[in-house]
Amino acid sequence: MTAVQEERTTEELKALAERAGRELEDATALEILRWAAGTFGKRFCVTSSMEDAVVAHLASRALPGVDVVFLDTGYHFPETIGTRDAVEAVMDVNVITLTPRQTVAEQDAEYGPKLHDRDPDLCCALRKVKPLEEGLAGYQAWATGLRRDESETRANTPVVGWDEKRGKVKISPIAKWSQEDVQTYVTEHGVLTNPLLTDGYASVGCAPCTRRVLEGEDARAGRWSGRSKTECGLHG
Ligand code: SF4
Repeated sequence: MTAVQEERTTEELKALAERAGRELEDATALEILRWAAGTFGKRFCVTSSMEDAVVAHLASRALPGVDVVFLDTGYHFPETIGTRDAVEAVMDVNVITLTPRQTVAEQDAEYGPKLHDRDPDLCCALRKVKPLEEGLAGYQAWATGLRRDESETRANTPVVGWDEKRGKVKISPIAKWSQEDVQTYVTEHGVLTNPLLTDGYASVGCAPCTRRVLEGEDARAGRWSGRSKTECGLHG
């Protein structure tokens, strides 16, 4: 596949996203990613929280060697870092690890310890939103593993949409998948998953802000539990 990497204006990218969102609503995840690979080439990346490597695996089938961007907040479970390392070792992808400007120790010195307990929005802004904004600067499009069935806030996720905040095309190729669809793909393709998923966690984020879920809770109930916060700001 010849990747087209032409320069596009913000208005062109936005129109492209809106048209693709309509035209690809009924396409498969792989078809959506093949469209992204053909349209954006190396100016397309996947972001992964290393909860599982499903979207990275799909994207590597559409674009071998695809960039997989991982945000190392400094607060991850060791299992998450291990999953990142395993993905890098065995998959045909190029893992790019983004880090915040400050280490956790530097942040503690400036803002006080456990900022995540006192002001999680600021902590996420410093350790997730800002580094991702800088890390995505060279790309025209990014793919995520967002799914409509994960929570009410994600129920209207388009398969291809416009990320107004970053001025990029945002692709959610498995938006229409269920948890069962994910599990089927993992089993059929032997895809790497975070070991915490078999230890009571349904959604894996930073250790201080993630707990196991209880029976009947939705997948993201274990994130920022007990707070009104449901998203880290990457997808809002
Ligand atoms: S999820 Fe928690 S620890 Fe991680 S960046 Fe956000 S507030 Fe900080």
